[in-house]
Amino acid sequence: MPLLPALQDASAPAAAHEAVRFDEVSLTYAQLAAAADSLAARIAGADRVAVWATPTAQTVVAVVAALRAGVPAVPLNPKTGEQELAHIVADSAPATVLASASDVLPPALAGLRRLDVSVAVPARADTEFPEPSPEAPALVVYTSGTTGPPKGAVLPRRAIAASLDALEDAWQWTGDDVLVHALPLFHVHGLILGILGPLRRGGSVRHLGRFSAEGVARELGSGGTMLFGVPTMYHRLAEALDEPAASGGLAKALAGARLLVSGSAALPVHDHERIAAATGRRVIERYGMTETLMNTGVRADGEPRPGTVGAPLRGVELRLVEEDGTPLADPASIGEIQVRGPNLFTEYLNRPDATAAALTADGWFRTGDMATLDQDGYVRIVGRKATDLIKSGGYKIGAGEIENALLDHPGVREAAVTGEPDPDLGERVVAWVVPADPAAPPSAAELADHVAAQLSPHKRPRTVRYLDALPRNDLGKIMKRSLHG
Ligand code: ATP
Ligand code: MG
Repeated sequence: MPLLPALQDASAPAAAHEAVRFDEVSLTYAQLAAAADSLAARIAGADRVAVWATPTAQTVVAVVAALRAGVPAVPLNPKTGEQELAHIVADSAPATVLASASDVLPPALAGLRRLDVSVAVPARADTEFPEPSPEAPALVVYTSGTTGPPKGAVLPRRAIAASLDALEDAWQWTGDDVLVHALPLFHVHGLILGILGPLRRGGSVRHLGRFSAEGVARELGSGGTMLFGVPTMYHRLAEALDEPAASGGLAKALAGARLLVSGSAALPVHDHERIAAATGRRVIERYGMTETLMNTGVRADGEPRPGTVGAPLRGVELRLVEEDGTPLADPASIGEIQVRGPNLFTEYLNRPDATAAALTADGWFRTGDMATLDQDGYVRIVGRKATDLIKSGGYKIGAGEIENALLDHPGVREAAVTGEPDPDLGERVVAWVVPADPAAPPSAAELADHVAAQLSPHKRPRTVRYLDALPRNDLGKIMKRSLHG
């Protein structure tokens, strides 16, 4: 089966079905195929193209064109700073950048040939594009840069198809689904799940341009069946549900959706429970990464449990290992997640060292994420090995559960937990807190007692630092490497 079968045959009955809608721009499958094919004819044979990935229909046309032409596409985040953008452009070396005519491109892209992408449907397009091989690189997606400089993950068509089909299996995802989307289009979540997912199934995407609770209520209230979001969006929905004036329509719209899905970072238990209390619906979580696409997820007919990301998806092998890579001695303890399956990337671009370090000899990917396993195989992510595992007083402590406990305190709006060197304990638990009311922040002693009462005394923060906001990236992930004590 081709990667995007519904775009293959412009005379099929589904060709008149809406593929994507961004504000006033709506494209049917036939229109998207025609616009993309005309662009594909202009880039065919190129080594690699960059896509200036604004949240527009032009970005969809550009990516689909590259997939049709078999030219690997590198989606670029338009908000990336000049230095990081220059690194990505030098690393991926695209000859051409695809952008909308109205986009103003920064100096880092000055050396590239520019092609303007149009959503207009050309008079005729009769070029045939043979389906590239499953191992052909389809996209080079840069990781979020949470733990270090972003690395370019080379994603073959086989991985994208496998991961989207595993989600079809888990979520009974069909061509009748209408996805409500407000994520950026240069990461796996927004581009592969949020755009290629519906296009592979023959369904529709309605993109809000910018996230807003009103936009979500409007689109889910008028035919949208699924919502994909990051935890910061669900946090904002939870806040909006608290507003008596606006909440009725939103609660009804969320309650009526077929699936509310969260990913890219841990969904705080507190927000999960607030949404469940206001709507009667539980958000389901899935866990993935740029290099592996999706690894686990709660199934549509499964039991969503706050704090868990579900079980391995179809075709994905998952295991927890000790620091030396051997299977966990105590199956109830914390281990690093390793995954293997058809969903894995091929390599990091230009980084054979990093690729070799990330993969075992027998093909397991070292995720760097730490977790425990529930008895029924549900994965509970504790945090990242690099930033979220605190070794204190002989215990291994995960930052995530302490963050959840802190967020449960009414005086806390945002919380992040890190470890810092301590002469007695090895490391000590440090809490970074954004108070709900900056004029009356809860005291360090009160927060420590709250955590000790909810979890256990050795998990209490020894130091509390107050901030106005946590440093977050464009997906709302907390950038712990820029928190310094
Ligand atoms: P970099 O690899 O450049 O440091 P990154 O790991 O944040 O950045 P991504 O590939 O975008 O880049 O993110 C994958 C990571 O996001 C996972 O390894 C995991 O830590 C986190 N993640 C994704 N989904 C979830 C989830 N549902 N719950 C908890 N963490 C999640
Ligand atoms: Mg990573």
